[in-house]
Amino acid sequence: SPGETVVRVSGGNKDYGGVHAVRDVDLTIASGEVVGLIGPNGAGKTTLVNMISGLVPPSSGTFEVLGTTPGRTAVHKVAQAGVSRTFQHSKLFPRLSALENVLVGAHVVSRPTFLRRLLWLPGARRDESQVVVHAARCLERAGLGDRSREDAGSLSYGDQRRLEIARALAAEPSLLILDEPAAGMNHVEADALSRLIGSLAAEGLTILLIEHNVGMVMRTCDRIVVLNFGEVIAAGTPEEIVNDPAVVEAYLGGD
Ligand code: ATP
Repeated sequence: SPGETVVRVSGGNKDYGGVHAVRDVDLTIASGEVVGLIGPNGAGKTTLVNMISGLVPPSSGTFEVLGTTPGRTAVHKVAQAGVSRTFQHSKLFPRLSALENVLVGAHVVSRPTFLRRLLWLPGARRDESQVVVHAARCLERAGLGDRSREDAGSLSYGDQRRLEIARALAAEPSLLILDEPAAGMNHVEADALSRLIGSLAAEGLTILLIEHNVGMVMRTCDRIVVLNFGEVIAAGTPEEIVNDPAVVEAYLGGD
């Protein structure tokens, strides 16, 4: 419900040998918020969301997500609590149709754990006869209603990224984590994606968005968190972030 805390990270750290990928990060996300995570390459964005989704155990710190403790709670249990995500690199099945790809997301709860782990999808158990209807509805929500019979591999790049979102939606998440969904998109596709994210948020979904397209993040997010060398160097509304000298120096100035 609105205002409830979905993600609470306090003092989150990740060390990879000598590389301190994430340093003392505090992050709270309330239900219904769209939060953007930006920062230069190697800033620790993916590592942070991997810890939030339970894929990577933290070196130290407290992680609480939808009543689970990622890092201690099994990965698939974090997913089942309502965390869905897309990845930087596509994990679609190119020779299955768009609809079939979404069906995998809708079915996945009744499939082996390895498949859930592979695709990172939770999902609600449902009547078999409703599954196709549900999957088709997810395609429609993602703006792909007229693409359902096409092979995933034959879709345009932008449509493939949206198909990944449709599949993530099939699991009926509360928290949707998107890892650079606009990468490689043109302006028109990025604008459509921004509107899609806005409409999902309006339906009550909480969204954590990693993105390099700063303009898109500014237009889409309620709040933005900026990482640099693993540390949060700024957090606030898009207006606050764009005027923050530390952000301009570390990141925006370089664009
Ligand atoms: P990008 O925008 O390029 O995706 P990022 O902000 O997501 O970058 P991360 O991928 O989280 O950054 O990486 C943060 C740092 O941690 C980098 O220096 C990276 O090389 C290092 N790192 C990430 N994963 C590992 C790993 N499994 N083993 C060792 N080092 C790692």
